Amino acid sequence: MIGSTVLGLDVGGSSVKYRLASAGQADGMPDAIAEGVAPALAEELPATLAELARTVSAGHRLAAVAVAIPGLVDEASGTVIRSSNVPALDGRALGPELSALLGVPVSILNDGRAAAVAEARWGAGAGERDVFTLALGTGIAGSHLVDGVIADGAHGSAGELGHVVVEPGGRLCSCGQRGCLETLLGAPALRRAWNAAGGEGSARELLAAYDEDDPRAVPIVRTAAQHLADAVLTLLALVDPGVVVVGGGLASAPHRLVELAAGYVAEQATFHRVPPIVPAELGRWAGAVGTAAEARALAARVVAA
Ligand SMILES: [Zn+2]
Repeated sequence: MIGSTVLGLDVGGSSVKYRLASAGQADGMPDAIAEGVAPALAEELPATLAELARTVSAGHRLAAVAVAIPGLVDEASGTVIRSSNVPALDGRALGPELSALLGVPVSILNDGRAAAVAEARWGAGAGERDVFTLALGTGIAGSHLVDGVIADGAHGSAGELGHVVVEPGGRLCSCGQRGCLETLLGAPALRRAWNAAGGEGSARELLAAYDEDDPRAVPIVRTAAQHLADAVLTLLALVDPGVVVVGGGLASAPHRLVELAAGYVAEQATFHRVPPIVPAELGRWAGAVGTAAEARALAARVVAA
Protein backbone atom coordinates (compact mmCIF):
# COMPACT_ATOMS: atom_id res chain seq x y z
CA MET A 1 0.00 0.00 0.00
CA ILE A 2 2.99 2.30 0.33
CA GLY A 3 2.62 5.13 -2.15
CA SER A 4 -1.16 4.79 -2.26
CA THR A 5 -3.49 7.47 -1.04
CA VAL A 6 -6.95 7.62 0.50
CA LEU A 7 -9.48 10.42 0.22
CA GLY A 8 -11.95 11.80 2.74
CA LEU A 9 -14.82 13.95 1.45
CA ASP A 10 -16.97 15.93 3.88
CA VAL A 11 -20.08 16.90 1.93
CA GLY A 12 -22.06 19.89 3.20
CA GLY A 13 -24.95 21.89 1.87
CA SER A 14 -22.72 24.70 0.60
CA SER A 15 -19.29 23.08 0.07
CA VAL A 16 -17.28 19.88 0.04
CA LYS A 17 -14.12 19.70 2.17
CA TYR A 18 -11.53 17.11 1.21
CA ARG A 19 -8.35 15.60 2.61
CA LEU A 20 -6.07 13.32 0.61
CA ALA A 21 -3.82 11.24 2.91
CA SER A 22 -1.35 8.36 2.76
CA ALA A 23 -2.93 4.92 2.77
CA GLY A 24 0.15 3.34 4.32
CA GLN A 25 0.31 5.54 7.42
CA ALA A 26 -0.25 3.19 10.38
CA ASP A 27 -2.06 5.43 12.81
CA GLY A 28 -2.14 9.03 13.99
CA MET A 29 -3.94 11.92 12.37
CA PRO A 30 -4.17 11.32 8.61
CA ASP A 31 -1.53 13.52 6.95
CA ALA A 32 -2.77 16.04 4.41
CA ILE A 33 -1.16 15.41 1.03
CA ALA A 34 -3.85 17.74 -0.28
CA GLU A 35 -6.64 19.53 1.53
CA GLY A 36 -9.21 22.09 0.48
CA VAL A 37 -12.76 23.15 -0.11
CA ALA A 38 -14.70 22.68 -3.33
CA PRO A 39 -18.02 24.34 -4.16
CA ALA A 40 -21.20 22.44 -3.38
CA LEU A 41 -22.06 19.70 -5.84
CA ALA A 42 -25.81 19.90 -5.95
CA GLU A 43 -26.14 18.67 -9.55
CA GLU A 44 -25.31 15.37 -11.21
CA LEU A 45 -24.37 13.55 -8.06
CA PRO A 46 -22.49 11.28 -7.68
CA ALA A 47 -20.66 11.98 -10.99
CA THR A 48 -19.48 15.38 -9.73
CA LEU A 49 -18.17 13.80 -6.52
CA ALA A 50 -16.26 11.24 -8.62
CA GLU A 51 -14.82 14.06 -10.72
CA LEU A 52 -13.70 15.91 -7.60
CA ALA A 53 -12.07 12.72 -6.29
CA ARG A 54 -10.18 12.26 -9.57
CA THR A 55 -9.02 15.88 -9.62
CA VAL A 56 -7.84 15.90 -6.00
CA SER A 57 -6.03 12.57 -6.32
CA ALA A 58 -4.51 13.26 -9.76
CA GLY A 59 -0.97 11.83 -9.92
CA HIS A 60 -1.57 9.52 -6.94
CA ARG A 61 -2.81 5.96 -6.70
CA LEU A 62 -6.16 6.08 -4.91
CA ALA A 63 -6.91 3.06 -2.66
CA ALA A 64 -10.19 4.03 -0.96
CA VAL A 65 -12.62 6.88 -0.43
CA ALA A 66 -14.91 7.76 2.48
CA VAL A 67 -17.71 10.31 2.23
CA ALA A 68 -19.37 12.08 5.17
CA ILE A 69 -22.97 13.17 4.63
CA PRO A 70 -25.05 15.51 6.79
CA GLY A 71 -27.98 13.27 7.56
CA LEU A 72 -29.07 9.73 8.16
CA VAL A 73 -27.03 7.06 6.40
CA ASP A 74 -26.95 3.28 6.36
CA GLU A 75 -23.23 2.65 6.67
CA ALA A 76 -23.54 -1.08 5.96
CA SER A 77 -25.06 -0.60 2.49
CA GLY A 78 -23.52 2.83 1.76
CA THR A 79 -26.98 4.33 1.28
CA VAL A 80 -28.04 7.88 2.14
CA ILE A 81 -31.42 7.52 3.84
CA ARG A 82 -32.19 11.23 4.25
CA SER A 83 -30.15 14.43 4.05
CA SER A 84 -31.97 17.73 4.49
CA ASN A 85 -28.87 19.71 3.41
CA VAL A 86 -28.18 17.62 0.29
CA PRO A 87 -31.64 16.34 -0.72
CA ALA A 88 -30.33 15.19 -4.12
CA LEU A 89 -28.74 12.27 -2.26
CA ASP A 90 -31.91 11.06 -0.51
CA GLY A 91 -32.32 7.35 -1.03
CA ARG A 92 -29.20 7.03 -3.20
CA ALA A 93 -26.86 4.08 -2.86
CA LEU A 94 -24.00 6.58 -2.91
CA GLY A 95 -21.29 4.16 -1.75
CA PRO A 96 -21.82 1.52 -4.44
CA GLU A 97 -22.47 4.16 -7.16
CA LEU A 98 -19.31 6.12 -6.38
CA SER A 99 -17.32 2.91 -6.03
CA ALA A 100 -18.41 1.84 -9.53
CA LEU A 101 -17.38 5.22 -10.97
CA LEU A 102 -13.98 5.34 -9.26
CA GLY A 103 -13.07 1.64 -9.17
CA VAL A 104 -12.11 1.76 -5.48
CA PRO A 105 -14.01 0.86 -2.30
CA VAL A 106 -16.10 3.71 -0.90
CA SER A 107 -17.71 3.99 2.51
CA ILE A 108 -20.40 6.45 3.58
CA LEU A 109 -20.81 7.83 7.08
CA ASN A 110 -22.62 10.55 8.97
CA ASP A 111 -20.66 13.82 9.10
CA GLY A 112 -21.14 14.34 12.83
CA ARG A 113 -19.78 10.88 13.57
CA ALA A 114 -16.77 11.48 11.33
CA ALA A 115 -16.04 14.76 13.11
CA ALA A 116 -16.53 13.19 16.56
CA VAL A 117 -14.02 10.43 15.84
CA ALA A 118 -11.46 12.98 14.59
CA GLU A 119 -11.90 15.27 17.61
CA ALA A 120 -11.73 12.38 20.06
CA ARG A 121 -8.60 10.83 18.55
CA TRP A 122 -6.59 13.80 17.27
CA GLY A 123 -8.35 16.94 18.48
CA ALA A 124 -9.36 18.12 21.92
CA GLY A 125 -9.98 14.55 23.14
CA ALA A 126 -6.51 13.26 22.16
CA GLY A 127 -4.90 11.14 24.88
CA GLU A 128 -8.17 10.58 26.77
CA ARG A 129 -9.73 7.11 26.65
CA ASP A 130 -13.32 8.13 27.37
CA VAL A 131 -14.53 11.17 25.43
CA PHE A 132 -17.94 12.79 24.95
CA THR A 133 -18.24 15.20 22.01
CA LEU A 134 -21.04 17.72 21.64
CA ALA A 135 -21.80 19.64 18.46
CA LEU A 136 -23.82 22.83 18.98
CA GLY A 137 -25.52 24.16 15.89
CA THR A 138 -29.05 24.21 14.53
CA GLY A 139 -29.41 20.94 16.38
CA ILE A 140 -27.32 19.48 19.17
CA ALA A 141 -25.55 16.19 18.53
CA GLY A 142 -23.53 14.08 20.93
CA SER A 143 -21.19 11.11 20.66
CA HIS A 144 -19.63 8.98 23.36
CA LEU A 145 -16.30 7.51 22.30
CA VAL A 146 -14.26 4.87 24.04
CA ASP A 147 -10.76 4.27 22.67
CA GLY A 148 -11.62 6.38 19.63
CA VAL A 149 -14.67 4.28 18.72
CA ILE A 150 -18.25 5.59 19.03
CA ALA A 151 -20.25 3.71 21.66
CA ASP A 152 -23.66 4.16 20.07
CA GLY A 153 -25.82 1.72 22.00
CA ALA A 154 -27.87 -1.30 21.01
CA HIS A 155 -29.63 0.49 18.13
CA GLY A 156 -27.04 3.05 17.05
CA SER A 157 -28.89 5.97 18.60
CA ALA A 158 -27.02 6.76 21.83
CA GLY A 159 -25.56 10.20 22.56
CA GLU A 160 -28.63 12.36 21.82
CA LEU A 161 -27.90 14.95 24.49
CA GLY A 162 -29.88 17.52 22.46
CA HIS A 163 -33.03 15.58 23.30
CA VAL A 164 -32.55 15.41 27.04
CA VAL A 165 -35.48 17.31 28.59
CA VAL A 166 -34.21 20.24 30.64
CA GLU A 167 -37.50 22.19 30.77
CA PRO A 168 -40.44 19.82 31.36
CA GLY A 169 -43.53 20.99 29.49
CA GLY A 170 -41.48 23.49 27.51
CA ARG A 171 -41.45 24.27 23.80
CA LEU A 172 -42.25 21.47 21.34
CA CYS A 173 -39.07 19.94 19.89
CA SER A 174 -38.59 18.59 16.35
CA CYS A 175 -38.41 15.13 17.98
CA GLY A 176 -41.92 15.41 19.43
CA GLN A 177 -40.94 15.85 23.08
CA ARG A 178 -41.25 19.15 24.95
CA GLY A 179 -38.44 21.14 26.53
CA CYS A 180 -35.44 19.30 25.03
CA LEU A 181 -32.04 21.01 25.37
CA GLU A 182 -32.22 21.69 21.63
CA THR A 183 -35.38 23.84 22.08
CA LEU A 184 -33.38 26.16 24.39
CA LEU A 185 -29.81 26.00 23.11
CA GLY A 186 -30.15 25.25 19.38
CA ALA A 187 -29.22 28.14 17.09
CA PRO A 188 -32.88 28.86 16.15
CA ALA A 189 -33.86 29.03 19.85
CA LEU A 190 -31.01 31.43 20.65
CA ARG A 191 -31.87 33.58 17.64
CA ARG A 192 -35.52 33.69 18.74
CA ALA A 193 -34.59 34.78 22.28
CA TRP A 194 -32.10 37.33 20.95
CA ASN A 195 -34.56 38.84 18.48
CA ALA A 196 -37.28 38.97 21.18
CA ALA A 197 -34.87 40.99 23.34
CA GLY A 198 -34.37 43.47 20.49
CA GLY A 199 -31.12 42.03 19.14
CA GLU A 200 -30.49 41.78 15.42
CA GLY A 201 -29.18 38.79 13.52
CA SER A 202 -28.55 35.18 14.44
CA ALA A 203 -27.22 33.22 17.39
CA ARG A 204 -23.68 34.13 16.31
CA GLU A 205 -24.50 37.83 16.69
CA LEU A 206 -25.97 37.04 20.11
CA LEU A 207 -22.72 35.37 21.20
CA ALA A 208 -20.66 38.23 19.79
CA ALA A 209 -22.86 40.73 21.67
CA TYR A 210 -22.37 38.70 24.86
CA ASP A 211 -18.61 38.97 24.42
CA GLU A 212 -19.08 42.75 24.35
CA ASP A 213 -21.23 42.61 27.52
CA ASP A 214 -24.37 43.76 25.69
CA PRO A 215 -26.96 43.85 28.52
CA ARG A 216 -29.60 42.33 26.21
CA ALA A 217 -27.34 39.36 25.42
CA VAL A 218 -25.96 38.60 28.89
CA PRO A 219 -29.11 37.09 30.50
CA ILE A 220 -29.92 35.04 27.39
CA VAL A 221 -26.44 33.52 27.17
CA ARG A 222 -26.30 32.90 30.94
CA THR A 223 -29.62 31.05 30.77
CA ALA A 224 -28.46 29.05 27.75
CA ALA A 225 -25.22 28.16 29.52
CA GLN A 226 -27.19 27.00 32.57
CA HIS A 227 -29.32 24.73 30.37
CA LEU A 228 -26.15 23.32 28.83
CA ALA A 229 -24.71 22.83 32.32
CA ASP A 230 -27.88 20.97 33.43
CA ALA A 231 -27.56 18.60 30.47
CA VAL A 232 -23.82 18.12 31.07
CA LEU A 233 -24.44 17.29 34.76
CA THR A 234 -26.88 14.60 33.58
CA LEU A 235 -24.24 13.41 31.15
CA LEU A 236 -21.57 13.23 33.88
CA ALA A 237 -23.94 11.25 36.11
CA LEU A 238 -24.66 8.72 33.35
CA VAL A 239 -21.43 8.47 31.37
CA ASP A 240 -18.56 9.84 33.52
CA PRO A 241 -16.43 10.92 30.55
CA GLY A 242 -12.78 11.90 30.88
CA VAL A 243 -13.29 15.02 28.77
CA VAL A 244 -16.27 16.79 27.18
CA VAL A 245 -15.40 18.39 23.82
CA VAL A 246 -17.78 21.09 22.60
CA GLY A 247 -17.73 21.95 18.89
CA GLY A 248 -20.12 22.68 16.04
CA GLY A 249 -21.02 25.88 14.26
CA LEU A 250 -22.06 27.74 17.40
CA ALA A 251 -19.04 26.77 19.45
CA SER A 252 -16.72 27.81 16.63
CA ALA A 253 -17.87 31.38 17.18
CA PRO A 254 -16.89 32.74 20.62
CA HIS A 255 -16.05 30.16 23.24
CA ARG A 256 -17.36 32.04 26.25
CA LEU A 257 -20.67 30.14 26.24
CA VAL A 258 -18.73 26.95 26.78
CA GLU A 259 -16.54 28.52 29.48
CA LEU A 260 -19.62 29.83 31.25
CA ALA A 261 -21.34 26.43 31.14
CA ALA A 262 -18.17 24.74 32.39
CA GLY A 263 -18.12 27.16 35.32
CA TYR A 264 -21.73 26.34 36.23
CA VAL A 265 -21.00 22.62 36.04
CA ALA A 266 -18.01 23.03 38.40
CA GLU A 267 -20.13 25.03 40.88
CA GLN A 268 -23.14 22.75 40.80
CA ALA A 269 -21.53 19.30 40.66
CA THR A 270 -21.82 17.23 43.84
CA PHE A 271 -20.91 13.56 43.55
CA HIS A 272 -19.92 13.99 39.90
CA ARG A 273 -16.33 13.74 38.75
CA VAL A 274 -16.03 16.92 36.69
CA PRO A 275 -13.85 16.47 33.59
CA PRO A 276 -12.36 19.26 31.49
CA ILE A 277 -15.06 20.82 29.28
CA VAL A 278 -13.15 22.20 26.33
CA PRO A 279 -13.74 23.65 22.87
CA ALA A 280 -13.11 21.45 19.84
CA GLU A 281 -9.72 21.91 18.16
CA LEU A 282 -10.09 20.70 14.59
CA GLY A 283 -12.92 23.10 13.82
CA ARG A 284 -14.45 22.82 10.38
CA TRP A 285 -11.81 20.30 9.26
CA ALA A 286 -12.85 17.62 11.74
CA GLY A 287 -15.20 15.93 9.26
CA ALA A 288 -12.57 15.76 6.51
CA VAL A 289 -9.97 14.36 8.94
CA GLY A 290 -12.48 11.77 10.19
CA THR A 291 -13.40 10.64 6.68
CA ALA A 292 -9.74 10.41 5.63
CA ALA A 293 -9.20 8.16 8.68
CA GLU A 294 -12.22 6.06 7.70
CA ALA A 295 -10.91 5.76 4.12
CA ARG A 296 -7.52 4.66 5.48
CA ALA A 297 -9.18 1.99 7.66
CA LEU A 298 -11.23 0.86 4.66
CA ALA A 299 -8.10 0.51 2.53
CA ALA A 300 -6.43 -1.53 5.28
CA ARG A 301 -9.48 -3.83 5.54
CA VAL A 302 -9.46 -4.42 1.78
CA VAL A 303 -5.75 -5.32 1.84
CA ALA A 304 -6.28 -7.66 4.79
CA ALA A 305 -9.28 -9.40 3.17
ZN1 LIG B 1 -36.10 16.77 21.22
